[in-house]
Amino acid sequence: MGSQEVTNWQGKNVTVAGLGVSGIPAARVLHGLGAVVTVVNDGDDERARAQAADLEAWAGAARSSSERAGGGRRVGITVRLGDGATLPEGTELIVTTPGWKPDKPLFAAAAEAGVPVWGDVELAWRLRGPEAAPWLAVTGTNGKTTTVRMLASILEAAGLRTAAVGNIGVSLLDTVLGEERYDVLAVELSSYQLHWAPSLRAHSAAVLNLAPDHLDWHGSMEAYVADKGRIYEGNQVACVYNVADKATEDLVRQADVEEGCRAVGFTLGTPGPSQLGVVEGILVDRAFVEDRHKQAQELAEIADVNPPAPHNIANALAAAALARAFGVPAAAVRDGLRAFRPDAHRIEHVADVAGVAYIDDSKATNTHAAEASLAAYESIVWIAGGLAKGATFDELVTKSAKRLRGVVLLGADRALIREALARHAPEVPVVDLERTDTGAMLAAVQEAARLARSGDTVLMAPACASMDMFVNYNQRGDMFAEAVRELGAASA
Ligand code: ADP
Repeated sequence: MGSQEVTNWQGKNVTVAGLGVSGIPAARVLHGLGAVVTVVNDGDDERARAQAADLEAWAGAARSSSERAGGGRRVGITVRLGDGATLPEGTELIVTTPGWKPDKPLFAAAAEAGVPVWGDVELAWRLRGPEAAPWLAVTGTNGKTTTVRMLASILEAAGLRTAAVGNIGVSLLDTVLGEERYDVLAVELSSYQLHWAPSLRAHSAAVLNLAPDHLDWHGSMEAYVADKGRIYEGNQVACVYNVADKATEDLVRQADVEEGCRAVGFTLGTPGPSQLGVVEGILVDRAFVEDRHKQAQELAEIADVNPPAPHNIANALAAAALARAFGVPAAAVRDGLRAFRPDAHRIEHVADVAGVAYIDDSKATNTHAAEASLAAYESIVWIAGGLAKGATFDELVTKSAKRLRGVVLLGADRALIREALARHAPEVPVVDLERTDTGAMLAAVQEAARLARSGDTVLMAPACASMDMFVNYNQRGDMFAEAVRELGAASA
């Protein structure tokens, strides 16, 4: 079951690693195909037991109805709780879920026994039908969701049947097995998914940028970068890279692609041949034109990009490059970008209060993302802090210091940011909020309002994860917006 196609699943022994969001659907699909499925799970708590009981009962019901209908005999699903390390006897394939780190003993046992391991993306790729839509794939440390949504919007504007799927929160497995027919898919892929997707071959793909993230999962920056680079393997038409991030171009060079596949760069500067870039406020294409040495095709204006912050223009160019690789006309790029609305908590303008703009970028959960949004404003009161996940803040603070009117810090690892500020921007006033209660965000917003002057931007781009004080980044953003509304009501 290595690289050759699996066409007959009947009676195949497949082990699914992990219950949960992608494990349960995978187990159901495999069972439906006739495989003998064992799900292994480390945890043995109440939730896992309930999920296991549900799944086993579902498989039992599916089996008896298929037998009654005279269908082939199906075996149920077995769930093993509290032992995710032992490879079940007879396993011919493991289908794993993103939560499982590659250094788990189960995978060592699989390697030893010569058993292949597929992730959810690999499974979807293998199960898609012969007429399946090609994939335009996007990865990168930051900007994936935004770029994939922009891409889907552009493809739609071109009249194509498409959907934004994958790591974005829409299961690829459901998409490829569903009834709906597509011309092309805009697919977001995480480094975890790429790690276990050996046979994936996209029509075209983009790596937006590379900065240290999720290193605990991958083990090292080299391993993380190598997994991201898998997205270019076997590309047919274009490998899209970021001219400002040489590591992405290096990955293109290392990739083994289809004959005739091109390297296409995107840049915020003037594009060279085979690049997309910006000339006097216009997004232009010098890659997908007849004569790329002499011609440039106008695609859209910067003002068509929402919001027109530099990193987001880069996202728009990457999306445009993938769409153009698929043959989309220039006008659809413009119309798609105009129609695009960013998701919540991504540089979201909440309100203006007393001449100060309040921006929610709660999704900036690492320093690379925060750096991008800090670069988008001139004079900023920055609300930051939370869980640093091992990050350091010296570079971020050094690069952003001249834009900072003031800083309000909150959350578990705020001392790390405070120390970086003391080292590189000692003149910037800092308010260090010790509190972690539900009123903390309101206090932070009030302090920020006190520091801000008319024309400034209060930017909540924490450069940290949220889980020390909030359920997730959504809740952190919602509480910020609520605090801004309270501030507005009080000052009205
Ligand atoms: P992802 O899906 O990769 O997490 P999102 O599109 O959800 O990316 O954006 C997450 C955050 O990353 C945004 O809120 C913004 O702060 C930042 N960001 C978006 N695009 C870029 C980019 N091209 N470069 C750097 N940071 C970015």
